[in-house]
Amino acid sequence: MIVDLRSDTVTQPTPAMLEAMLSAPLGDDVFSEDPTVKKLEQMLAEMFGFETGLFCPSGTMANQIAIKAHTQPLDEIICDKLSHIYNYETGGWAFHSGVSVRLTSGERGKMTVPQVEELILPDFDWYPNTRLVAIENTVNKGGGSIYSIEEMKLLSDFCKSKNLIFHLDGARIFNALVALDKTPMDTHGFFHSISVCLSKGLGAPVGSVLLGNAAFIKKSRKIRKVMGGGMRQSGILAAACIYALENNIQRLADDHRRAKTIATALEKCSWVKTILPTETNIVIFEVENAADTTTKLAALGIKVSPFSSTMVRMVTHLGISDEMTKYLLSTIPKIH
Ligand SMILES: *Cc1c(COP(=O)(O)O)cnc(C)c1O
Repeated sequence: MIVDLRSDTVTQPTPAMLEAMLSAPLGDDVFSEDPTVKKLEQMLAEMFGFETGLFCPSGTMANQIAIKAHTQPLDEIICDKLSHIYNYETGGWAFHSGVSVRLTSGERGKMTVPQVEELILPDFDWYPNTRLVAIENTVNKGGGSIYSIEEMKLLSDFCKSKNLIFHLDGARIFNALVALDKTPMDTHGFFHSISVCLSKGLGAPVGSVLLGNAAFIKKSRKIRKVMGGGMRQSGILAAACIYALENNIQRLADDHRRAKTIATALEKCSWVKTILPTETNIVIFEVENAADTTTKLAALGIKVSPFSSTMVRMVTHLGISDEMTKYLLSTIPKIH
């Protein structure tokens, strides 16, 4: 048996999702003529209470478009040192937008108002202009840690009081909302923009949507084009995303339940040193040698990601069944 826990991006489209893709009406989206793309953008915008949205080929592009559209050179952005924007987007803030970055050291990647306040720079010639704050919910490198609705609101109110743009990297916002038993509208009015990944736990093969007001999305469309992200009959992909939103949100709770089961079993393994609290679908734990553990698990058909020299990550998703979880639980006590 192969149990692929490397990432929730490894999901394969199901027959029903492929069926939805085959029957989607298509058009040229660079001419704004793809009805399925428009339907997806409108659907997510309505869910979160935004004016409109923009279908992007990746979450990285959606975040980078947002930074570009919200800032100008000499601006500075604030994110956490564990954030995807800082760690895994190839330094795009500098490459695309000519901005600098300042980092909070939050608890499991979650920043607080005092931490942000400390990083806001006064208006001197020798400082960049503090412009934008970006949070991530859930925080991948924080072990899928969740900002509660109250925590998001506190940061939002603070950003408003300081005239700062507030962006949400919501690659896994549905994991957060399902775990909190909240709805997208519970975040209404908090953010200037949100990026949402459909290609993670929701199970679509490709796609993210950037949400914002009409003027921001108009600007973002042009930035998407210059980045090479203007797609043609992309409704075939958007159809998979619509299917994912209609069918795969509530089932994220199953991923969370399985992740907790795995975390509990890992706690009992002598070769596991520490383990981050498991709130959603990501389990991050510490071992003596992450590369060694990864190789030993791979030999038994269990694929995981080494996250540093001593940290290992397992991610549950719709390709992981209870049967696979059972096999995993029976296998992990045996290694080392
Ligand atoms: C996956 C992910 C993204 C976007 O990644 P792509 O692979 O470019 O779609 C952005 N933020 C977070 C937190 C992610 O986990």
